[in-house]
Amino acid sequence: MKYVSVALDLALDKPLAYAVPPALEGEVATGQLLRVPLRGRAARGFALEILDHAPDGVPPEKIKAVLSIEDPVPFFSKPLLDLAKWIADYTASPVETALRAAIPAAVLKRDARPREQLFVEPVENPKCEDPSTPKRRRLLEDIRRVGGGWLQQLSKEFDVAPSLFKALAKSGHISIAPRERRRNPLEGRTILPSKPLPLNAEQSAALETIRNSKRPVLLYGVTGSGKTEVYLQAIAGILAKGGGAIVMVPEIALTPQTVRRFASRFGETVAVLHSALSPGERYDEWRRIRRGEARVVVGPRSAVFAPVANLGLIVVDEEHDSSYKQDETPRYNARDTALVRARLEGAAAVLGSATPSLESWLNAKNGKFTLARIPHRVRGNPMPPVRLVDMNEEARRTGFAPLFSSELLEAIGKRLGSGEQTILFLNRRGFSRSLACPACGHVEKCPACDLAYTWHKADDCLRCHICGGWKRTPASCPECGCGELKRAGAGTQRAECALRKCFRHARILRMDADSVARKNSHDDILAEFRAGRADILLGTQMIAKGLDFPNVTLVGVLNADISLNLPDPRASERTFQLLAQVAGRAGRAELPGEVYVQTFSPEAPPVAAVARGCDFEPFAEAELSVRREYAFPPYMKMAVLTVRSEDESKAAAWAEYYSKALAAFAGKNSALSMNVSDASPSALAKADNRFRMQVTVRAPKNSSIVAAWKWIRDSSRPPADVRASIDIDALDFL
Ligand code: ADP
Ligand code: ZN
Repeated sequence: MKYVSVALDLALDKPLAYAVPPALEGEVATGQLLRVPLRGRAARGFALEILDHAPDGVPPEKIKAVLSIEDPVPFFSKPLLDLAKWIADYTASPVETALRAAIPAAVLKRDARPREQLFVEPVENPKCEDPSTPKRRRLLEDIRRVGGGWLQQLSKEFDVAPSLFKALAKSGHISIAPRERRRNPLEGRTILPSKPLPLNAEQSAALETIRNSKRPVLLYGVTGSGKTEVYLQAIAGILAKGGGAIVMVPEIALTPQTVRRFASRFGETVAVLHSALSPGERYDEWRRIRRGEARVVVGPRSAVFAPVANLGLIVVDEEHDSSYKQDETPRYNARDTALVRARLEGAAAVLGSATPSLESWLNAKNGKFTLARIPHRVRGNPMPPVRLVDMNEEARRTGFAPLFSSELLEAIGKRLGSGEQTILFLNRRGFSRSLACPACGHVEKCPACDLAYTWHKADDCLRCHICGGWKRTPASCPECGCGELKRAGAGTQRAECALRKCFRHARILRMDADSVARKNSHDDILAEFRAGRADILLGTQMIAKGLDFPNVTLVGVLNADISLNLPDPRASERTFQLLAQVAGRAGRAELPGEVYVQTFSPEAPPVAAVARGCDFEPFAEAELSVRREYAFPPYMKMAVLTVRSEDESKAAAWAEYYSKALAAFAGKNSALSMNVSDASPSALAKADNRFRMQVTVRAPKNSSIVAAWKWIRDSSRPPADVRASIDIDALDFL
């Protein structure tokens, strides 16, 4: 008798064992979707493992039998099952949540079906005579000329009613039969084929490194250095050997431009996964991948699970991007997951970025990754000069801190005069909850962590979200003594208003979460700007990524300080990434560009580094030593435990309990070097009507944090209205 362990799609903590009945012996395989009995009903679940014995402690006669196999073709290969198990272990979440994350919802829903449409083909050597009417004869000639096609399409193309086709079918001249028709996300786009470009010396060296490295490769190349061309040629090599590849890009960078570059080079073998696809398109693309018809997959986070056979290469572009982190269970980071998948499949892995994450940079320094550099832009045009505008001086001169400095306004005015375009960037990441002095820009910081405090309105306190420390909000600025501390930051709408007052005739496009809420309007806005129908594009970090506008010669950053003052150990790193990326938008083509950065902190390391020409390496070195000093990632693994409840006192009490229990665990297992913070309200203290409290946990090894959490979770029973969840390798401290 054989048994099989099954992960059920109802959030159960553990897979359940079932017996394989004689009728299904030899048929059940791992990765298949099975029907099994559960509490008197039928449920569906994935076969994880075939077992020779009933699991220990369960009498075999108590074990129920598998009812049937839903689909004989396994949904998961062995490496993909192992990948899901790794995610479950690493993020302390049930394995079925990882399995579900790996398959498009439409595939699992039974209503997803291939689309069938009527296909017309001429019948060879029809038995009957030529069609009776001239109309029919002409249609038959047309059909023979094109060799056949979709009824709907031909009827439109030839401007002939479907009934005429039916008549021809009836007389035996053509066949009309339903056929599967792929829902193609690229349908209707003209995609011209492209040939590999001759690589320059730096690109060739990078390609060689990718081909030869036994370890993952960190491809560190400035914006416009030709990384994408290197990916394309690395993939071509894999395809030539019969392998497949996955290219991951941040969701927001997955523009039609990006997709076109891959489709131009590799044609039909490219599958696109994108959150804007219809369920049907997603279903069809996924099936094309599973059948091996598509061997290059381009997509965001979830593409890491694409069932590409014979996987030879995974590319993670913009590897530092925080959108690779899934923000609900299972909270995997797709970049790290890609590395694990590459290892499980024996595939090569490339992480590319102009501003690598410090995690990856440290791995490259330690020799875990091989570093490949492309220090120069392909076209040789230099990075644009970055000018810092010291807002302290601006404030001193004008008596208050304006949204736009006079220097920046002057630069914008010049562009309006010459018909060149401007991008203005308003930093709003997680928008600031810190208080700043409007007169001198001073922000109060936690002395233990050197990070900005978050202001909590309810009790008028400043709190540190890393260590839990707090103090009363001072009545006036401790630095200059004059101003009352205020919430920093202004919205894009206010900036737009201010801009319109200065430049009455300027054509301004605004891009933020509100203006792109409509589907496709992101692309529409960019298309309009590209076509030159606006002078100024004003937006949030959405505009910072991967865009290439030849006519943009001025980029302005209105408030570089906001991300600097986030209560986040990666605040400096994020600021550098944002500013470097924004700077990369200017002067991409023939016209030289200029970048203005308005800041109250011109001396802050990331700001100063960007002003020195996006000088990443020295910045990274200095930042790493800060991280080491404060016991922050990448030297420590860091998780955030969040407790939510509609009842504020329950949330507080349970957060307190978890903090104490974790600290006690850390005390007993001192070899783990685990550090647990006090419980404190989250920066986002209330959301969805629930109060939120948090505890941060740090340790050199993630496995220690997971072990501690699982032990405490499984030995406590919070009431139903209290929810606790842990975010492993947290990137967000809200
Ligand atoms: P990155 O991905 O590093 O930002 P891209 O691959 O987008 O850089 O390259 C920037 C531009 O240079 C693109 O327009 C690309 O077509 C072009 N390019 C890349 N490699 C070469 C090359 N070897 N010769 C000529 N043009 C190139
Ligand atoms: Zn602190």
